[in-house]
Amino acid sequence: MLDVTNIRKDFPILKREVNGKALVYFDNAATSQTPQQVINVIVDYYQNYNANIHRGVHVLSQEATDKYEQARNTIQKHFNAAKAHEIIFTSGTTHSINIVANGFASLINKGDEILVSAMEHHSNIVPWQMLCERTGAILKVIPMNLEGELILEAYEALLSHKTKLVFCNHVSNALGTINPIKKIIAKAHEVGAAVLVDGAQAAPHIKADLQALDADFYTISAHKVCGPTGVGMLYGKEAWLNKLPPYQGGGEMISEVTFKKTSYADLPHKFEAGTPNICGVIAFAAALDYMNAIGFSEIAAYENDLLVYATQKLLEIDDLKIYGVAEKKTAVISFNINGLHPYDIGSILDKLGVAVRTGHHCAQPIMDFFKIPGTVRASFSFYNTKNEIDVMVDGVKLAAKMLV
Ligand SMILES: *Cc1c(COP(=O)(O)O)cnc(C)c1O
Repeated sequence: MLDVTNIRKDFPILKREVNGKALVYFDNAATSQTPQQVINVIVDYYQNYNANIHRGVHVLSQEATDKYEQARNTIQKHFNAAKAHEIIFTSGTTHSINIVANGFASLINKGDEILVSAMEHHSNIVPWQMLCERTGAILKVIPMNLEGELILEAYEALLSHKTKLVFCNHVSNALGTINPIKKIIAKAHEVGAAVLVDGAQAAPHIKADLQALDADFYTISAHKVCGPTGVGMLYGKEAWLNKLPPYQGGGEMISEVTFKKTSYADLPHKFEAGTPNICGVIAFAAALDYMNAIGFSEIAAYENDLLVYATQKLLEIDDLKIYGVAEKKTAVISFNINGLHPYDIGSILDKLGVAVRTGHHCAQPIMDFFKIPGTVRASFSFYNTKNEIDVMVDGVKLAAKMLV
């Protein structure tokens, strides 16, 4: 079991007050908090070896380059990627997905089909719609049931020799559903389609083994795994990354430039044009180190305990409905109280120091499916406690009383 009392000491922000109340931070699915160990790495970078990478003869540049490339190795190991150069550093999941969507424009033809799951984040819908507009490919949706689980028979029926790409998140940010991604990938491969898995919401809870999953692409954002904002990863199988054209032109991504012709650098630099978020990448790896030291299976077990407890407590409230009751889910609870607007509940919780998200959670199609404008979403992390859940539940009860 986790030593949560000690873990909480690592997160300075958890000591702060909001509206005169102790902060209860339940917006972890939007962004996670940062432990002192990672903050120290950021400070150390700017205090001691801030320099541009891959181009300096001087010591600082070499130190920064070494740390940056060590971070790539750390992340490769974490996800069990076959090669370090299959890890591309990006500004986050959105950027990672756009690299792939843009690259596929040259590999997709009119009439080809792209499948996308019904529970995607907007960042995993819009780039494919743009790709379809450019190429004349057809976007088809893998449906889900009322529990918030993908309907696998319907998925298999949609797959054909026309399917070129399948996009699915590993975990839904709005519902918490853990999708059977290994099966989804295997089925797509049977018809020769490539699969991009949006792992942004899975990464804080599940350590994905990318070789075992056989994913073609996998994306995450550092700020959901206790790292800084504005940095993330695109994993791609070497063969796919070699096939895709670069996304941005500029420094760092070339091997030779003349005004007649430019040849591109090898992986991973082909996709890392310009000066990257050097400090962010180093802190990203430090954040994964921090979480690995606690242990992902310990984190998952503890968070599941919080999920079960909070679900039970919330369901004791009259007219409260939870959206997303999949058998396998992470510690995310999306709910509404009949007749009340989620925003009003969220505002009252905020007055009590409880931070939740309200709205459509960048997943409007899911809200349309349930015929609701949005939900209140509480998402838990390994540094949260049952005490904090009690504070939220009392707040929701108060809101229900005040708002009728
Ligand atoms: C947060 C999130 C994203 C977007 O990540 P950015 O860091 O904003 O690019 C995409 N998909 C899912 C499932 C997410 O949870």
